[in-house]
Parts: sequence; C-alpha cells; structure tokens
Amino acid sequence: MTQEEKNSILIIGGGLIGLSIAYEFARNNFRVLVLSKNRNESAGFVAAGMLATHAEGLEDELLKFGQESQSLIPRWIKSIEKDSGIKCGLKQCGIVVPFKNKKDLEEYPTYKYGKYLNQQDLHAEIKGINTVWKHGLFFEQDGQIDNRRRLMRALERACSLNGVEFQEGSEVKDLILENNKLTGATVLYATGEIKKINCKKAILCSGAWSKKIFNKIPIFPVKGQMLSIQGPTNFLKRVIFGPKTYLVPRDDGLIIVGATVEKNSQFNPGNTPKGIKELQEGIRSLLPEAINWPQMEHWWGFRPCTPDLQPILGKSEIENLFLATGHYRNGVLFSAITSDLLFKLVQNKSLKEKEKSFLEKFKLNRFKI
Ligand SMILES: Cc1cc2nc3c(=O)[nH]c(=O)nc-3n(C[C@H](O)[C@H](O)[C@H](O)COP(=O)(O)OP(=O)(O)OC[C@H]3O[C@@H](n4cnc5c(N)ncnc54)[C@H](O)[C@@H]3O)c2cc1C
Repeated sequence: MTQEEKNSILIIGGGLIGLSIAYEFARNNFRVLVLSKNRNESAGFVAAGMLATHAEGLEDELLKFGQESQSLIPRWIKSIEKDSGIKCGLKQCGIVVPFKNKKDLEEYPTYKYGKYLNQQDLHAEIKGINTVWKHGLFFEQDGQIDNRRRLMRALERACSLNGVEFQEGSEVKDLILENNKLTGATVLYATGEIKKINCKKAILCSGAWSKKIFNKIPIFPVKGQMLSIQGPTNFLKRVIFGPKTYLVPRDDGLIIVGATVEKNSQFNPGNTPKGIKELQEGIRSLLPEAINWPQMEHWWGFRPCTPDLQPILGKSEIENLFLATGHYRNGVLFSAITSDLLFKLVQNKSLKEKEKSFLEKFKLNRFKI
C-alpha cells in the first residue's frame, strides 16, 4: 500500500457528521473524498443547534458523551472558524427548562446539574414567559451554535481549504466487499452515471438514510418540523426548552422554534398544517407575545434515530468500514467528540478508558439483528 493510499479515507454522506469527520482527517493531512447524495437534505441544515446536554435530560453514558463533547466544542469551533474565516455563532447562553410543578422538576434526570429558579427568578430570567410556568431549572453550562446559517458552511469551507474533495449528487448504492473486506463502493451520480470507486477505508455517515446502504444498521427517520420568527434583538437571551417546544434566540433576534417529533413519518417531505399549528401553540405556551412576531421561514428534516436513541459508532463487522451515525436529537452536540473519536479509532491510536467505554456502549452489535 502506498503512503497516499494509507492516508486516504472515504466519507459516505456529507451532512454534519460526515463534514465534521472529513475536517478532522483533512487537517491531519489525509486525502479525503466525501460522497454526498444531497447536502440540502442534511439534518445539519435543519437542527436548532442547541448544545443541550443537561437541558435535554441526557442520562448515563450519553450524558458523559455530551459533557465530553461540550468540553471539546470551544477549541474545535475555534479551529473551524480560523480555517474557514466564518464565525459559527457558538454561545454559552444557558438554557432554561420551565416546569408547572416542583415534583416534575425534582424528577428531571439532570436536576442536580441545574440551578433552581422559583417563579420570580424564572420571570426575571425570561421576560414575558407564560405565567403557567411556576418553576425552572437553569443550565448555565448549555448553549447553542448557529448550525443552519454558519457551522455547516464553515465546515464545508474549512474542509475544502484543507483539500477535501466533494462529489455532490453522488449516492452510494452498494458497498463492494472482498472476503468481508471493504474495497470500494458503487456510486450513482445525479447525471445517471454509475461508477465504482475504490477505497481503503470508509466511514458511513449517512444519517437517517444509513440503513439503505448497510441494512444491518437499525436506523429510522424521525421527522422534525421547525419555523423561525423575528423577535426584537436581545429580547430573549436564553434558550427556553419546553416539554414540547423550544425557542432558540440567535444574536440578531431571529428565534428558531422547534420541533415536532414524528416517529412514523418515514421520509415524507414537507411542512404540514398540523406541524405548524403545533409549533405555534408551543410559542404561545412559552412566550405568548411572540405569537405576533413575524414568521420568517419554515422547514423540516429527518433525525437519524436508533431503537435505544443512542448513536452507533465504531467498527463494523466489515473490515475497513467504520460507522458514525444515529445521532438522533443531538448530532450538533455530539459532532466534536464523534470526529475526534473516529479519527483516533481509524488511526489505531491509543484510547483513554472513557473513550473505550463510549465505543463499547455505542457499538453496532449491541442490537440483536
Ligand atoms: C428538527 C431537528 C432539530 C434538531 N435539533 C438539534 C439540536 O438542537 N441540537 C443537536 O445537537 N442536534 C439537533 N438535531 C440533530 C442533528 O441535526 C442530527 O443528529 C445530525 O444532523 C446528524 O448528522 P448526520 O451527518 O448523521 O446526518 P445528516 O446531517 O442528515 O447528513 C446525512 C447526509 O448523508 C447523505 N446521504 C444519505 N445517504 C447517502 C448515500 N447513500 N450516499 C451518499 N450520501 C448519502 C444525505 O444526503 C445527507 O446529506 C436536530 C435534528 C432535527 C431533524
């Protein structure tokens, strides 16, 4: 194997996770090829961008995974911003989870990581919050990134400037194996042309579509509809994470409102009247006056979900095929640690105990297929 072959990697899927991993390899002088069916359908362009390890109430290994990723994010983003010249809108703005009764608050899985807010504190923290909310948990350590307008573009640019080759409109239809060893992929191009591409190692990062390439991956799409409203700048400073709806304020007053959770959606595209109504009711239930603020956009996308709601990371049973998928609701949060971990694993670098433990917990064969 030549040095060039040794230091090359194929990334299947140019969404958030594919780009994050491509960037990690490229900045470490690998030759990287990204095959991307359709960048515009990537959930990376859909997400609200919350870094909500604690506000989401993650538990056990997933909580540690989120905390570890959150600790890597500032340096990781700094590097992407430096290489791309694009600011990503990373803000440790804090996230407030409101409650109607104290029992629910005390039973929240990450209760001990938050600061208790009584009704007066809650209303001081979030001007205009609906008076039905009597208590709150404030997670000062949580925050957000502007993935939709900034991070995705920044990653694409940082990848390109570090030499990553993109083939947009190229759908991997099949993996080519010899004696259970990956040697390439059959690719259908948007032009209708079909080609075989050779590779030494590949990482499958195809999000909600992963099962179509490798049917042992038990992933299914969970659709989320979103919209945005334009509020006054600086009116809302914290993210409000309600039980059904969240409001994520960007610096320019734009508020991202999310999201429906549609488990039986399959890949049905589009916003629906029911979905938009649910989001509008969510706005009213959290911040009543915001219902009159102008609606700017609406969109939708597909979260890559697994039966236990945890990602699938690491080696597959096919030699030289690695997996990084199933990030469900927290792919933005998990992107930094996923790229770091996959780079170390593919490179056979020594891993810390906690990294080994993540790979053990999130391995594919925890599912009996
Ligand atoms: C409504 C919604 C809100 C969310 N909010 C948040 C949030 O606030 N915080 C957070 O951390 N996470 C959030 N997420 C989750 C996050 O967006 C996802 O976990 C993350 O984007 C997954 O990244 P991915 O690269 O695996 O998939 P994607 O970003 O979807 O990318 C997959 C890519 O693979 C390509 N692909 C598929 N099949 C093939 C093939 N055969 N060949 C080549 N390419 C292929 C697709 O075209 C796509 O571009 C949200 C998701 C949704 C839908």
